Amino acid sequence: MTRRQLMLLFVAALAVAWPLLPEFTATVFSYIGLYALVAAGLVMLTGVGGMTSFGQAAFVAIGAYATAWVCTSPTAAAALSALPPPLWPWVGLALGLALTFVLAWALGGITVKLSGHYLPLCTIAWGLGLYYLFGNLQALGGQTGITGLPALSVFGISLASPRVLGPVIWTVLLLTLWALHNLLDSREGRAIRALKSGRLMAESMGVDTARQRARVFVLAALLAALSGWLYAHMQRFVNPTPFGLNVGIEYLFMAVVGGAGHLWGAVLGAMLITLLKEQLQDWLPRLLGASGNFEQIVFGLLMVLVLQRFAEGLWPTVARWSGRWLRPEREGRRGVPPCALPARAMQPAGALLLEARAVTKRFGGLVANSAVDLTLRAGEVHALIGPNGAGKSTFFNMVSGVDDPTEGEVRLLDTPMQGRPSREFAARGLGRTFQHVRLLGERSVLENVALGAHLRGRRGWWAAMLRLDRAEEAALLVEARRQIERCGLGAFADRPAASLALGQQRVVEIARALAGNPVALLLDEPAAGLRHLEKQALAGLLAQLRGEGLGILVVEHDMEFVMNLADRVTVLEFGTVIAEGTPDAVQRNPRVLDAYLGGAEPAAPPTSATAAAAVLEPAA
Ligand code: ADP
Ligand code: MG
Repeated sequence: MTRRQLMLLFVAALAVAWPLLPEFTATVFSYIGLYALVAAGLVMLTGVGGMTSFGQAAFVAIGAYATAWVCTSPTAAAALSALPPPLWPWVGLALGLALTFVLAWALGGITVKLSGHYLPLCTIAWGLGLYYLFGNLQALGGQTGITGLPALSVFGISLASPRVLGPVIWTVLLLTLWALHNLLDSREGRAIRALKSGRLMAESMGVDTARQRARVFVLAALLAALSGWLYAHMQRFVNPTPFGLNVGIEYLFMAVVGGAGHLWGAVLGAMLITLLKEQLQDWLPRLLGASGNFEQIVFGLLMVLVLQRFAEGLWPTVARWSGRWLRPEREGRRGVPPCALPARAMQPAGALLLEARAVTKRFGGLVANSAVDLTLRAGEVHALIGPNGAGKSTFFNMVSGVDDPTEGEVRLLDTPMQGRPSREFAARGLGRTFQHVRLLGERSVLENVALGAHLRGRRGWWAAMLRLDRAEEAALLVEARRQIERCGLGAFADRPAASLALGQQRVVEIARALAGNPVALLLDEPAAGLRHLEKQALAGLLAQLRGEGLGILVVEHDMEFVMNLADRVTVLEFGTVIAEGTPDAVQRNPRVLDAYLGGAEPAAPPTSATAAAAVLEPAA
């Protein structure tokens, strides 16, 4: 049996047993479905996207209150007199989703840009704010809330009892999980996962991180509002209590305890926490012989223990156990042949790709780059060298859109790039790697490399959720695998990136850059951590890419590697270019020797690249 079959079995068992369950159990399972819907949104937001929210209960409240108001207020009744009352809840749903959409978009626009603990703090702020707002609005019944909500009815069938509404809730939940699973298994899903590793890498792969974060935020809020709508029509009344901050925290608990990185973790977490609280409420007073909110105390302690023991949540552990006796999922997605991906025309050899004109960068009083001129042409390897702190990484950031020059100009394919974000550099054909490797360690090499091809796909969220993107997705994965094989890592394609040696991870970054079909490649210390044979293979690969017409700008400390490979070398010292020319000329340049040796003249000029390497090896 595979995991998917086990899931289907679980759902089928639930469906068969449903009519036989006691009324109370059916109600509990309905609640679990509702909670899991909110928690699934949190899995996307927190576990996958890396944004912690304590405020989801507020969005549940909007969904619940919107429909309560539409279905009970005289104002709404007057406005909706043309519609038969059984349709009013649907108007309530539309209103709740619309309000949530607008509010989440506005809140998200402001808050998701915040980093560190500011975002969670903000979610607490609005969670509290909305809770008190609902409690104080007399139009919404204040602390008493609104009673007398109608039951939902679909095609004349009343969904009044949890026994009938429950299956609807679980159907909504399962469809949601299916759509979210599809979304994560797509180019947009890779972009969402990339958010967790910070802006820098994702933007360099062409992901609009601000937009992507805001969308995930809105998605999670809409799921919460949907849950609130169902909740209101199941309860048939609403008041502020179930939407307080403590409930918001509990939703987060569900996602985290279940396993915030996994969609089914949301269901597991919702189920465990709901059943646990249920049982504690039953048993504790009997055990202790007194009544009180003891369950909250024990519950809190249990959460601490679980989180301490299972930092990733319970789902990964469950998955590992079950992996022992479950067959792995069969690969080989049937059918859809890959479509063609757009490919960039290579520039003719010698064409100017990247140009820095008198680029200066100041950090306060420190001049990290001072009027640096540099060009990169198609079909060449241009090395940028210099002692530590010379300003190489600063320069890299400016020619890749991470940072703007204080003065001077950067042009990519003859377009001035002033003020443009790095994703536009990527869109115009610039691929790059990072000095400190930035991969999604838990994801496979294949997925990491496919992220590099992000901009070569077009299909968006809806297409992904409905699985209309399969031909494009197949093509992106084929392309990623091709680049991995080209870089000699074919055997590792399906391993988690973190399981590779550091040197290999650097090569994965090159494959990822290549998947974007760049015309210019920026490599920050690609040979660091590679063994001798690996360096040779890398040099071979770069020479091959140069032969195909790419322009490669490389920062590297290994002088033997640089001098054997580069066509031109530029030497930086204290932010200033002190030499530029062929490797031979640069190695003979007295200023260069001076910079590296601190004034000592070599007895004889170095004769071979290796001898020069010994001299030029930076002291630091
Ligand atoms: P390299 O990559 O050649 O070792 P860097 O470009 O990292 O050198 O740094 C050049 C100089 O600029 C260093 O003195 C460094 O301390 C300084 N620097 C780099 N980034 C910043 C920053 N964000 N703020 C202030 N100073 C910086
Ligand atoms: Mg550096």
